[in-house]
Amino acid sequence: MQGVRDESCLSWVASTASGGESLQYICDCGLTAVVQTSFTYQNMGKRFRGCPKLVKPCKYFHFLPSEETIEGRPRELPLILKDREQKLKRENEKLSKENTDLVQETGNLKNENDILKNENETLKNDNGYLANQCELWMKKMKTAEKKLKKLDKDYRTSNKVNHIMCVVFVVFVAVLVILVGVFRLM
Ligand SMILES: [Zn+2]
Repeated sequence: MQGVRDESCLSWVASTASGGESLQYICDCGLTAVVQTSFTYQNMGKRFRGCPKLVKPCKYFHFLPSEETIEGRPRELPLILKDREQKLKRENEKLSKENTDLVQETGNLKNENDILKNENETLKNDNGYLANQCELWMKKMKTAEKKLKKLDKDYRTSNKVNHIMCVVFVVFVAVLVILVGVFRLM
């Protein structure tokens, strides 16, 4: 009875060749074929004789006759299945937890992203405001500079005027003194 291996389903679990077997079955690798139990969905619990290699077994494969299959079903099968179920449950729980953690992390990252976006927006606004203020102050500074130049010019002009007035006054006083002297002599 030739069977087809279904690699997509649960893996094969090897069990030791059952005792009392008189015939030796040799697989394509030249090794003693062992009786194993199928854990695929289609052939759950069915016994077969196949290659003893766990990794890359050869194509040697024969289902045991059905009566042998039922009787030959290993006693440990329910335990193996239970153990497998528990392992899968644990893995599922672990993955569920990981998933929850990832969802939470994603949420946290989204929140952080939102905060950073807001901060960025605020900084952009601040930047715009500061740029405006800077421009305003530059204008004010230029106006003040112009005023200062004008004041400097005015100061220089008034200084000159003062100087001339001073000279005129001194000349006037001198002329007055001379005139008074002349009138006294007369
Ligand atoms: Zn083999």
